[in-house]
Amino acid sequence: MSSGTAVGIAVLLPDLLGTYSDRGNAEVLAQRLRWRGIGVEVRTVTATDAPPDGCELYLVGGGEDAGQRLAADWLRRHPSLRTTLAERAVTLAVCAGMQLLGTSVTERDGTRYAGLDVLDLHTVPGPRRALGEVLGRPSLPDVGVVTGFANHGGASTLGPGATPFARIVRGPGNGPHHPVDGARSPSAEGPGVVATYLHGPVLARNPDLADHLLRRAVGPLPPLDPARVPEQALVRCGYVPAQDRRRGRGWSA
Ligand code: GLN
Repeated sequence: MSSGTAVGIAVLLPDLLGTYSDRGNAEVLAQRLRWRGIGVEVRTVTATDAPPDGCELYLVGGGEDAGQRLAADWLRRHPSLRTTLAERAVTLAVCAGMQLLGTSVTERDGTRYAGLDVLDLHTVPGPRRALGEVLGRPSLPDVGVVTGFANHGGASTLGPGATPFARIVRGPGNGPHHPVDGARSPSAEGPGVVATYLHGPVLARNPDLADHLLRRAVGPLPPLDPARVPEQALVRCGYVPAQDRRRGRGWSA
């Protein structure tokens, strides 16, 4: 735990990897814990900080190529983070964040740099930028259909040590010949990395993915108490009121 009994959530490098507001994923996780009466501490880790190693959840978001290169330098200066992310904590990595946790990134001009080597994937420039809304079916048993939007120039290829996060139903995937999105550690339980190209923030659009990560990090979750959760907030988090569910517009969690 981060301090006392609060669940620690570390947001890594939003100063370099904050272009797409993926930091909102931390707000979603924190609020879903608070609604359940569980204490939470969100820690922002910038490029001048050292990473905390005692948090339960780590988040790393998307950004532009220049910021991503600086983030790779920062990761190289903090190699112990590799063990934390690979073996001890639960990590959500989005787009540039996912690319950085792979083995290598090659830029359009041929410059190649190493990633943190937590995920078995490498990234090279794609033939065209992948843009647009995505619908996917995750490979995680407790997560329904996911949505988000993609905006990336890199194309990522998974090695045998990584499992795709989702099968693409509609929209661009990891690359032109890869109809899958993202990657994850082989185990769907306990510590590990879930990585995706989906922005949104993805957890605001897919609350059952948020609860999947929370369960892995803190154990079984009490159900959300509707008395504590304003319906407006639930709707913003993807909840569909009962009358709309009956009309077939559904989110079933
Ligand atoms: N710079 C990377 C790319 O274009 C990541 C972009 C992003 O994080 N959205 O592939």
